[in-house]
Amino acid sequence: MQNKLPGDLKRVRVESVREIAENAYVLEYKRFFEFEAGQIISISLSAEEPPRMYSIASGEKDENIQVLFNVVSEGKLTPALSGLKKGDFIWTSPGFGKFTGTSGKACWIAQGTGIAPFASMFRSGQRVGKTLIHGGRYPDSFYYADEFELVLKENYIRCCSREIVPGTFHGRVTDYLNSLDSLSADSLYYLCGSSEMVVETRDLLIKKGVSFTRIVGEIYF
Ligand SMILES: Cc1cc2nc3c(=O)[nH]c(=O)nc-3n(C[C@H](O)[C@H](O)[C@H](O)COP(=O)(O)OP(=O)(O)OC[C@H]3O[C@@H](n4cnc5c(N)ncnc54)[C@H](O)[C@@H]3O)c2cc1C
Repeated sequence: MQNKLPGDLKRVRVESVREIAENAYVLEYKRFFEFEAGQIISISLSAEEPPRMYSIASGEKDENIQVLFNVVSEGKLTPALSGLKKGDFIWTSPGFGKFTGTSGKACWIAQGTGIAPFASMFRSGQRVGKTLIHGGRYPDSFYYADEFELVLKENYIRCCSREIVPGTFHGRVTDYLNSLDSLSADSLYYLCGSSEMVVETRDLLIKKGVSFTRIVGEIYF
């Protein structure tokens, strides 16, 4: 996927940057474009710096664009991004990318901040026929869990890999999928997270009988 060039970016004012869990931040600014849930944007701190890509986590009609990010300690952008205050400026693009949702049956499989595009689809009204399998290391890694749980109920499955939490599957999303006897053949499968997670999950789905034509992935590299 081609990143947006700095010249495509617009300077916008930050509304807020909040820490919502250890090392996880939500950045917001006023929406100035239409987009399709699941799309990404580019962000940079100046017109000269090469931008990084982020999924939009807010709904299509929300007043603000919301971005969920982890700070990479040696990273060029995220340590500075986490320190921004209301009124500071970022450079950002309109939405782009093809990882968009469906009104039909779908199984969303996310790891860490890979929950963002599904939050956008969910907040844009895609709820019927959706199952969300959400992987995280610790109990506070399940960003937006309250929203999903309220609506998706038993179709919202949390997989916590590093701690045993009552009511939560202990293990990774691949362990959870492996524990299932069968998988729905008429569902689409959307995967979002690190390259290891997306590739491993894709291979497992195919091994369990899902056609590769029903699998769509978005890799955060
Ligand atoms: C399509 C797409 C969508 C993305 N959406 C999101 C999103 O919604 N939220 C989000 O947090 N990130 C997302 N990313 C990742 C994001 O673009 C940046 O790569 C990330 O935020 C690090 O940027 P940085 O400038 O701080 O670090 P960089 O300066 O780019 O990286 C510094 C070093 O850290 C390594 N590194 C980069 N990212 C990680 C990581 N996550 N964990 C460990 N090491 C890492 C790099 O390999 C490099 O060695 C997405 C990436 C892609 C391709």
